[in-house]
Amino acid sequence: MQKPKTIRVKDKDFTISIPEAELKQQIKRVADEINRDYAGKKPVFLAVLNGSFIFAADLLREIDLPCEISFVKLASYEGTSTTGTIREVIGLNIDITGRPVIIVEDIVDTGLTMAHMLDTLKGHNPASIDICTLLLKPTKLQVKLNVRYCCKEIPDDFVVGFGLDYDSFGRNTKDIYTIINQ
Ligand code: 5GP
Repeated sequence: MQKPKTIRVKDKDFTISIPEAELKQQIKRVADEINRDYAGKKPVFLAVLNGSFIFAADLLREIDLPCEISFVKLASYEGTSTTGTIREVIGLNIDITGRPVIIVEDIVDTGLTMAHMLDTLKGHNPASIDICTLLLKPTKLQVKLNVRYCCKEIPDDFVVGFGLDYDSFGRNTKDIYTIINQ
């Protein structure tokens, strides 16, 4: 069946921007880098829900190292400190002390989520932490962040599909779509 060039998710229209074949190709490239860089190690992949579930499934099947995967979520609270919002990693149910950790994220935008996550995880004393993201919007980054593995850099436009949502919908498309007339 011919793929639709545009889709409607709730009240917004999106146009195809990254086809599934390109996503798979880039995921394989990044997995090969991880396989090479982590040779002889047993990394723990920490996939950040919900958005990374499809990326994590594809990535892990290209990893040929002995490894574990666990899924975490981030909870936000209204804080009283000047930082405003405090994010907490929930569901970290494995001991990462002394282990090499690879965070699997769907998209890095301002980088604030990953910065908070790094801070929290460091408190658990892992041997190392690397970030692996499907997408990165380099022009939106607000913090200094070392994103070691990135499948694709994209412009500053809202995207859905391949696990990413718009208001909880649109996660189930095989390709990635960019919003039209935001
Ligand atoms: P950051 O803290 O880096 O600004 O935001 C990261 C989170 O914002 C991602 O995990 C994702 O949930 C959400 N996000 C940022 N940009 C997009 C986008 O273009 N599309 C979707 N669906 N979510 C996004």
